[in-house]
Amino acid sequence: MYQKKVKESNKNNIFKYIFEKRKSFVINDIAENLNITFPTVKKIINSFLKQNIIFERQKVGFGVGRKAMEYELNEEFCYSIGILASSTKLKFILTNAIGKILKQQIYELKSNNCKAEILNSTKDFLNTISPEVRKKLIGIGISVPGIVSEEGNFIEFSSKEKIVLSFIEELKNLFHIPVLIENESNLAAIAEAFLTRNSIYSTFTILTINEYVGISNFHQDSLNNTLFFKAGRLHHMVIESNGKLCECGTHGCWGTYVSDKVLLNDFQKYFPSIKTYNEIFDLKYHETNIGASLIDNYLEHLAIGIKNILFFSNPEKLIISGNISIYKEYIADKLIEKIYKNHIFYRGKETIVFSSLNENGSIIGAAMFPILDKII
Ligand SMILES: [Zn+2]
Repeated sequence: MYQKKVKESNKNNIFKYIFEKRKSFVINDIAENLNITFPTVKKIINSFLKQNIIFERQKVGFGVGRKAMEYELNEEFCYSIGILASSTKLKFILTNAIGKILKQQIYELKSNNCKAEILNSTKDFLNTISPEVRKKLIGIGISVPGIVSEEGNFIEFSSKEKIVLSFIEELKNLFHIPVLIENESNLAAIAEAFLTRNSIYSTFTILTINEYVGISNFHQDSLNNTLFFKAGRLHHMVIESNGKLCECGTHGCWGTYVSDKVLLNDFQKYFPSIKTYNEIFDLKYHETNIGASLIDNYLEHLAIGIKNILFFSNPEKLIISGNISIYKEYIADKLIEKIYKNHIFYRGKETIVFSSLNENGSIIGAAMFPILDKII
């Protein structure tokens, strides 16, 4: 679980206001909205100007007299690196301060030595970044499918692979830059909470469907200025007692029915020409009778797990993130129909939404993590 006491200072509150507003704000707006005196806001704005966090220009308008100055967030005031680890590859992105992807690279894993693979590919990726951008790098965020445990002192890459947490210290010392590591569902929650329309919810649950299936409950408490999130390994929630064998040794784990790899393997049995997950949603495959029945079977199992989540915690919003959210137009109605058929839930169909960040939620969250950790 990650818990953070949000720094309660005028400077921090003004930064948060600017980060959300982004464009065309004047000092009076901030003073009124945050109930801070004009001179205090002015002083902080001046310090942000000095640090190049914001730009200043004269407000365009009619009429005579002195025009107020208006301000805009400098989206390039810092940069960050996000790394998404899976069992076959490491994906790297470079983002600006608002999570916009400026550069990306994929490194296929050549060995099962996670530490060496991360070290070498990070070195290589850093070498592709210009010195001007490197100077403004705020940190590196790494997303892993498993749990990051402070108590247990381990990072879980999969149910079979763990490395010691002190590896992060090694990376920090080697690259002289803050390095943070978190579970992919928690990071997808960060991206939703700070970069999408879902930021209006103080609590929500996010379901990430990738190679592994995971969940995170995000909670923001504005009264106590804290935020926390906690990930769960729903991949191994059993939905069929004599079901398919999972890598964890148990039969019938949810992940063996709904992970990306499973859907791809199911399609490849009937359509061997399919090479990648995205090809499944090519009309010539998923709209055939076999394709439609494979999708229907997939959604049936997805619905079972989602119903369990709704019964367990009755979330205000359940956001579905991962590759499947790219194809929401094909599956959303059918999935929601299966979940809410003769339902007894307290909330309705509006609970289920798909992430607007599609497959990039976790990796963008990874890049945003050092920015939020340092600034907010
Ligand atoms: Zn399992």
